[in-house]
Amino acid sequence: MEYPGNLFVVAAPSGAGKSSLVKALLELDSKLDVSISHTSRAPRGQEQHGREYWFTSVAEFRAMAERGEFFEWAEVHSNLYGTSRAAIEARMAHGDDVVLEIDFQGALQIKQLFPYAVLIFILPPSWEELEQRLNRRGDTDPAVIHQRMSNARIEVAQAQKFDFVVVNAVFDTAVFDLKSIVHAQRLKYAAQRRNRSAVFRALELP
Ligand code: 5GP
Repeated sequence: MEYPGNLFVVAAPSGAGKSSLVKALLELDSKLDVSISHTSRAPRGQEQHGREYWFTSVAEFRAMAERGEFFEWAEVHSNLYGTSRAAIEARMAHGDDVVLEIDFQGALQIKQLFPYAVLIFILPPSWEELEQRLNRRGDTDPAVIHQRMSNARIEVAQAQKFDFVVVNAVFDTAVFDLKSIVHAQRLKYAAQRRNRSAVFRALELP
């Protein structure tokens, strides 16, 4: 499947800082939009339906999956999450760039469907730092931290399948790294031909 817009997929173990990094990237880049996923988990804190997620029941989620309405979906920490066609298809067809903030299983499914998707994995600088960040997030239950840390080892092992790796040691540096990846992707021949078609035509480039 091919659309004119670029597709960026960001995955990371919980606590690596993925959401904050993507948020900072979006603030710097008005041409980038984040996809809103469907999930069967309940809203947390201030989360709003249609803002952070489309919150659905398990039954509705499964019905959507059966109707083929997701580009990818996966079970993460016992809940279902998916990227609907409706969430990104129109935007990419229109030539806009979209970023998906999803888990590694979903990222690999997206790469199968859209080989030109750019997969970015965020790594913590060390296991110790990841554990400290999880503790600072307020998940004080040692069993929860332990579970997240063992999941993180499984998730981090998938980083080698990604196109780019960003180590989130210094936040601003990691944001700069993400911005550089997005920028470089937009300068690829195929992307430039789409976006600067007048120049390409004038220069008689194929
Ligand atoms: P949380 O419940 O903390 O918001 O998210 C849990 C995990 O599910 C995170 O790794 C998040 O990136 C991932 N996730 C969120 N939306 C999707 C999605 O649409 N598809 C997949 N595969 N994972 C998702």
